[in-house]
Amino acid sequence: MKIFITRLIPDKGINLLKEKGYEVVVSPHDRVLTKNELIDVLQKDRYDAVLCLLTDKIDAEVLSAAGPQCKIFANYAVGFDNIDLKAVAEKGVMASNTPGVLTDSVAEHTFALLLAIAHRVAEADRFTRAGKYMGWEPMLFLGESVSGKTLGIMGLGRIGSRVAYHAKRGFDMRVLYYDVKQNGEFEKEFQAEFRANPDDIFKEADFISIHVPLLDSTRHMVNKERIHMMKKTGFLVNTSRGPVIDELALVDALKNGVIAGAALDVFEHEPELASGLRELENVILTPHIASATEGARQAMSETAALNIIEALEGRTPPNLVKI
Ligand code: NAD
Repeated sequence: MKIFITRLIPDKGINLLKEKGYEVVVSPHDRVLTKNELIDVLQKDRYDAVLCLLTDKIDAEVLSAAGPQCKIFANYAVGFDNIDLKAVAEKGVMASNTPGVLTDSVAEHTFALLLAIAHRVAEADRFTRAGKYMGWEPMLFLGESVSGKTLGIMGLGRIGSRVAYHAKRGFDMRVLYYDVKQNGEFEKEFQAEFRANPDDIFKEADFISIHVPLLDSTRHMVNKERIHMMKKTGFLVNTSRGPVIDELALVDALKNGVIAGAALDVFEHEPELASGLRELENVILTPHIASATEGARQAMSETAALNIIEALEGRTPPNLVKI
């Protein structure tokens, strides 16, 4: 069996595949392959499985290039918006993801962003490094406290509910959520309040954190209209996928004091940033690193490899994704 990995990843999964006796070929380029390069690689050799990243667009052409012997495209991510699932079903190939193993890392990063934007950490860091700190001042960098405030979660799945857990248990926040599915048990345990209309989250919350997957139904879910429903003192945090937010509308709102601030790990047109975003002081920007802890990335590597092994041994991968 021969496996192609589109970019070097932590070694746990690579070692598992090798221990199985599979031949593992890792792309020699430490960068995202262009679509043509990926097609070229898959046509030149015959691979039984491909371990791909969220930066690889897996569409009908790429799937065709892989040939009929290729059983599975195992994504090294929980999100799978980079994979055309309709084409996957049509080709009779499998696709998988890595849910769960990165939940803690992403929830922690979400909270790091939330606390950092509320306490103006990045802004104050820039100020201090610039040699502007002349001594304690009563009015210097007044921020917002998080404790006891209202957090609105959009998408109470694995990550959203872990963020809600930290909010409730760590900061005694009131938790509101919107999701296509209501979760009565979670509501009881964390005194969380469901809102059937997403607009209500935007109107009521002090902090809004986005955890929905990128789907047709969630693209620009955070649009100009909803941003304008937020409190003037409100903060928006996004560690899900960039296109869930209309980034230009957000920049405009941040510039004009419609909301207090935003902290973003993901961007609408990664790696490009919307014009004007990087100049704003009231934003925190991280380069899509919410899952980037040693433990989570090794576990993602292992999970992707286990999905491949299951598929190649004729069993259903534990994290099969379907339309
Ligand atoms: P999940 O499937 O457990 O949770 C997603 C939740 O969103 C579910 O509860 C689902 O019911 C809900 N949902 C789906 N469509 C909706 C809609 N239209 N309106 C409201 N709710 C909707 O997924 P997860 O493991 O919690 O991950 C969430 C997302 O986070 C992933 O899809 C991925 O895009 C993103 N993510 C980003 C990073 C990062 O590095 N920044 C890392 C991991 C995951």
